[in-house]
Amino acid sequence: MDLNTVYEQYRDRIKDIYGEDVKIVYGVGNIDAEIMLIGEAPGRFEEEQGKPFVGQAGKNLDEFINILEIKREDLFITNVVKIRPYKINEKTGRKVNRAPNKKEIELSLDTLLKEIEIVSPKIIVTLGNTPLKALLGDIKIGDVHGKVMEYNGRFLYPLYHPASIIYNRALYDVYIEDLKNLKKYIKSNN
Ligand code: URA
Repeated sequence: MDLNTVYEQYRDRIKDIYGEDVKIVYGVGNIDAEIMLIGEAPGRFEEEQGKPFVGQAGKNLDEFINILEIKREDLFITNVVKIRPYKINEKTGRKVNRAPNKKEIELSLDTLLKEIEIVSPKIIVTLGNTPLKALLGDIKIGDVHGKVMEYNGRFLYPLYHPASIIYNRALYDVYIEDLKNLKKYIKSNN
């Protein structure tokens, strides 16, 4: 099965449940990439632009790319959940991002697993708890960040979620250190 077919099936399922107007943010990048980056779910800017990791999250992604000394084209980038999870702020009446819930993750997981099979990356990099737990079960990012793990015969490297490091200097330093170690790991395996 190719990626377009996988995405068409996902779209049909999501539209049946959430209606025709729901915006879906599919994975982007090189489908032969050796590194696959998996985030949590699109936020407001991703939904507006139809691409994962734009806006503030995109800036973190640029840092990721710079430190690893790779090109954006060397990556495939996707999210576990491909629609924006939101709640309504009671004061402003506006949509605010929230973490995806169990139902949203369950609806999306088989699509993620098919993306992994099709892209077939050597290294999967998960950002935050959502993709880590979706693939490896009940594990906490705080316990395993920066450690090389295994998922179905592939390397899996858990990183903190970029959103969690923005306002936390200590976590930011850990994130950068983990990225530098990932770079060493990639170099030593090439
Ligand atoms: N943007 C995404 O596409 N995914 C995230 O997990 C966060 C921001």
